[in-house]
Parts: sequence; C-alpha cells; structure tokens
Amino acid sequence: MRKFTLLIFICLVQFSFAQRKGYWQQKVDYKMEIDMKESSYQYDGKMKLKYTNNSGQSLNKVYFHLYFNAFQPGSMMDYRLRNISDPDKRMVTNIGTKENPKLISRITELKPDQIGYQKITSLKQNGTDVNYKVDGTILEVTLAKPIKSGKTAIFDMVWNAQVPEQIRRSGRNSKDGVEFSMAQWYPKMAEFDPEGWHLDEYVGREFFAPFGNFDVTININKDYVIGASGQLQNPNNVKGYVTNPTIKENNGKVSWNFKATNIHDFVFAADKNFVVDHGKSKHGVDIYLVYKNDKSGSSWKEAMPYALGFFDYNSEHFGEYPWKTYSIIEGGDGGMEYGTATLISGNRNLESLVGTIFHEAAHSWYQQLFGINETYNEWFDEGFTSYVEQMALLNVYEKLKVIPSNPNPDAYRGYIALALSGKEEPASLLADYYNTNYGYSLEAYYKGQVLAIQLGYIIGNENLEKTFLKFYDIWKFKHPSGNDFKRVAEEVSGINLKWYFNLFLNTTRKIDYAVDNVSNNTVTIANKSDFAMPIDVLVEYTDGTKELFYIPLREMRGEKPAENLVEYQGAKRTVLEDWFWTKPTYDFKVSKDIKEVSIDPTKRLADVNPENNVFTK
Ligand SMILES: [Zn+2]
Repeated sequence: MRKFTLLIFICLVQFSFAQRKGYWQQKVDYKMEIDMKESSYQYDGKMKLKYTNNSGQSLNKVYFHLYFNAFQPGSMMDYRLRNISDPDKRMVTNIGTKENPKLISRITELKPDQIGYQKITSLKQNGTDVNYKVDGTILEVTLAKPIKSGKTAIFDMVWNAQVPEQIRRSGRNSKDGVEFSMAQWYPKMAEFDPEGWHLDEYVGREFFAPFGNFDVTININKDYVIGASGQLQNPNNVKGYVTNPTIKENNGKVSWNFKATNIHDFVFAADKNFVVDHGKSKHGVDIYLVYKNDKSGSSWKEAMPYALGFFDYNSEHFGEYPWKTYSIIEGGDGGMEYGTATLISGNRNLESLVGTIFHEAAHSWYQQLFGINETYNEWFDEGFTSYVEQMALLNVYEKLKVIPSNPNPDAYRGYIALALSGKEEPASLLADYYNTNYGYSLEAYYKGQVLAIQLGYIIGNENLEKTFLKFYDIWKFKHPSGNDFKRVAEEVSGINLKWYFNLFLNTTRKIDYAVDNVSNNTVTIANKSDFAMPIDVLVEYTDGTKELFYIPLREMRGEKPAENLVEYQGAKRTVLEDWFWTKPTYDFKVSKDIKEVSIDPTKRLADVNPENNVFTK
C-alpha cells in the first residue's frame, strides 16, 4: 500500500511538471576523419553516421546541411546580402565613400579558389548506394530502404570540401589571422521533430540539429595546434596541451582525435601560432583557452579566472554544466557558440573578452544543453543567454553583493527603442525572414531578455530562479520550445501565462500604463495600450510611510507572492481585486494623504511610455 501511494505520488510529481507526454527526438552518432590540405584550404572527409529514428514513423528520405555551399556567388546568402537594407558589415565591402556608402556582397566577389563547398563523392545507406541531390545548402537523400520507427541506419559518406574565405563565422584566415575557423564544416544531419523536417537554407541565421556523439579525427601538418569541441584523446602526441609531448607524425602530419558526448554542433580551429592555457573549475570542468600567441590574443592570458568563475556560478544558478570540458578558442568573426566550445575573435580588451566568453558560454545552456530551435526561437536562444550572461557579469565580474531587481535596464532601453522604431516584427517570425538585421537583433537579444526579466515581474524573481532550475531538470539534452519554458514557469508559480507569451511573442503590441488620476483618496490607473499586465503600484504617503498595492490580472488565475526587493523595503503590501483586460481603468482607495504614486518602481514592466507612470503631488 505504501509503495502504491508512493508510486502514484511520483507519477503525479513527474507529469505535473510540464513534460510533454510521448516526447521523442532523433539521434546521431558521427565518426569522422578528415585530411587537411592546408596549402589549398581544402580537405577530404569521410564519415560513418549512425542515425536513430525515434519518430514513430518510417522515413523515406533524410536531409543534410552543406553549410559551406552558402559561400558561393549566386547563393541564397549572397542574394540576401545584396538585397537587405542593413547587411552585416562583416559580409560586405564598401566601394563607395563613408558618406555615400555602396555596399557589395563579399560572397559575390569570391573566386573559385576562395568559395566554400562540400561535394559528396559517395553516400551509402547500410552499404547500399543511395540517390541524392543538392539544392544550395541542402542535401536530399532518397533512402534505399525506409528507416522504420525505432530503427537505426548507418550512412557512409565520402566528401571533399573547400574552406571559404572567412565571410561569416567559419572560414580561412580570419581578420585576426587565425588560419582555420572550422564551424559547420561537415555534412550535418538536419533536424526532424514533431513539426517535421527543418530544411532551412543557410541564409545567415543560426542552427538546429539533433543531439549525438562525435568521434572526430583531424589529420593536419605537425606545426598546427587545434582547439575543438569535446575532449582531446591524445594530448601526449600532439602540440600544445602537455609539456614535452611525444609528437607522433606520419609524413609530416599529426592525427588529432576529439570525442564529444551528447552535443549537436562540433567546431574546431587550427593555427600554427596557437597556445593553450588550462584551468579546472571548482565544479570540475576543464577549461581550455586556445589563442594566438601574439597581440590579438594578449588579453586571453588574463581571462582564465573569470571563465572558471562563470562555470561555477552558472552551475549553481542555472543547472550543473554536464560536460567535462569547455574550450574558448580564438577564431571566427565575433563570438559564436558550439558544443562545449566557442570561437571568439581576438584583438579585444579583457572586459570585452570576458563579456563575450560569458555570453557564448551561457549558450552552453540556452542552445547546446537545451537544443533550441533557432530557426524561429531566437528570442529564447539569444534572449535567455543574454539574461544568463548579465546575471553572471553582475555576480562574477562585478562581484555585486546585491543584484538589482531589474538586472539589465539596457535591455529594456534596446527593446523600447525597437518597439517605437516602426521596425519591430513579431518574435515568432522565422529568424531569416526579418526585414532588417536591426529588427532581428534587438528582438532576439533585448526583447528575449526583457521577456525573461519581465516574467520575474509577473511571477516574482524567486519563482523565476526556481523556474530556471526546474526547466534544467526536465529539459536538458532535449529540444524544448518556448511553451515548454512557459509550462514550467506556470507549474512553479501557479500562475497562468498564456496571455503573456502569446502577446509578447506573436504580436508587436506594446505595454503602456499610466497613473491617470489621483483625487482625494482614490487612485486611478489606466491601461493606455492593448497589452494588459498585472500592476504593482507603490504609494508614498505624506507621513513618510509607503504602501505597495498589487493588482493581479484575472487571466493569471493566481497571484505573485510578496517579493523582498530593495524598492519595496518598508512598504506594507496590499493585494487588490483582480483587474481584467477588457476594462481600461482601475480605481483603488488609500487611507492616507498621498505624496507620490508610482507604477512598478522596479522597472521590470516593459512600459514603452514610462513618463506617465509617476504622479507627484
Ligand atoms: Zn548569442
């Protein structure tokens, strides 16, 4: 009997926490070996890919991404650059003047020996040749035999590739002189999930792929040092990782072997001038800083303590970092996150380097550990990562003892500028389809971050912290949607959040509340917008005392608990009757003479017109 009740209890607890019943995901296991031809910036590759179909249906086709093919004149990425009004500066050349710029796509200008490509020369499914065709950056494979649900297929692929001039993220000879920045360098199995196949061409935005294990061997000239995803298996036989290694070379080449478990994006970079620093965090993560031993990498020598502090802080507040290693590698053209690694460009001061490390390493949660669909949930990926980065900067870098109620007012300023710019598009739009890079960037990084901070305003900052940890427990190594995060927040707080996520993500509606009127002892608050929110109103009386009035929104079907925040200290808290969205104004009575009335002094409410939020007598 006891056992029985315990079992029921466990079931209730598990299913009440917002797990999707019948959830499934595909699995990939890559074993790859590549032979670098350094002087021509080409390589030969072969892979054995074990693909496991957990979908519940038979598959007649599979698809791969061939991302390097984007870096060819006439590609979708090229046309996008030629036609978007505000192209990424890294990807265009200005042939006009500073005052009268004339921007041309750098891809258009690439010569045959500078373009990128991945050319398949052989592809077999369980030993049988299969038919395939390539459209731009997508490889479509018609299977020899369907892969039944629950079954596995082995793909043997042989290909050769040319590493493009660096245009974006990956490529040869970065601005800082890193020779090989190798991201999206291998034919990558596309994601198939309950929404179907995700066959987005590489136009500019980020990635989405199934989880799996990687075993990667890179044969390269003996003078190179490599930084990569996962764990180096033969540090004693290669340059850079141990003192006095016994280099094992073969015709002037050395084999590097890396293994990574349960990631969905494998990166590496190689350069003759790389050096490697190693540190271990208190939580046991081996951190590698791999950087050029010249001016471009000079600030990296000082970055290790901050990187270690970041991983310890984050493991305590957002869930334990589950892998053994993290490599921070100089390369690329800014900062970009990959499985257990990042490529970060050089020539930056320590503050900029630490900020970028914190951002990219935070993606180990909101991208790598929760395999977010970045083809349209970029607010979840960049916004939540920016939130985690900011919390770590305040705690670890600035060592603040008291974290502000709103940890990032800058994100609010950015979002409000976007909301008032006329260039805002709904956050649920496909990431590549934004009309401007401006609209995409401010929405992804700022509006996404505001969504998280403002969620703290709705459910309380303590509930927000609990939500992050609970979400980690349920969704690590899976592909959660924004709705999955919302469901955890609802379960943790007991507050219904349907209205909030819908209006904030699927529309460009803006919030504007006002203190409409104060007469005698009655305060009138007005919703001047088409976006209803719960409202905190702090009233200061002429006798110097304060009272915090909390007006829940009826749709919440619950109330935010009292919060212990600096702005509310010493104030009595009074919970008022619910308000609801069909009613534009709300009155409440106070018992004493009013000196000042202010809506949300914590400034977590994303009110686009804060001027009318305070009344002073
Ligand atoms: Zn990011």
